[in-house]
Amino acid sequence: MGSWTRPSSEDRCTAKSKQRGAQCDRYKTAGHGVCYYHGAESPQAKSKVDRLFALAADMALDVLVSEMEQADNSADRIRAARAILDRAGYGPLRRIEITTDALEKELEKVNKEIAEMELDL
Ligand SMILES: [Zn+2]
Repeated sequence: MGSWTRPSSEDRCTAKSKQRGAQCDRYKTAGHGVCYYHGAESPQAKSKVDRLFALAADMALDVLVSEMEQADNSADRIRAARAILDRAGYGPLRRIEITTDALEKELEKVNKEIAEMELDL
């Protein structure tokens, strides 16, 4: 099994331990300067990550639009256009078939029992 190793300075949480006054020994959470214990999972920190993702998504869309408009070959332009359409909710139609045989059989059974109960009354 893996034994615990102190994180390198670049991977280490920058917060100070309240009890010891020394720097925290935990790994910082990806995208944060601190570990989960020192606030990486707080709503404020999460909203920071959300903002970073929104910014990255904005940049990713710019890349796709630019690819759609300027790619050298038609296949790449079409691939970018499809990716944009898919993410915008205009992807190809998908057919989902749900069979209800088991449910119908169960309903028949229940209806038969009800009919029998009514005959007994
Ligand atoms: Zn920490």
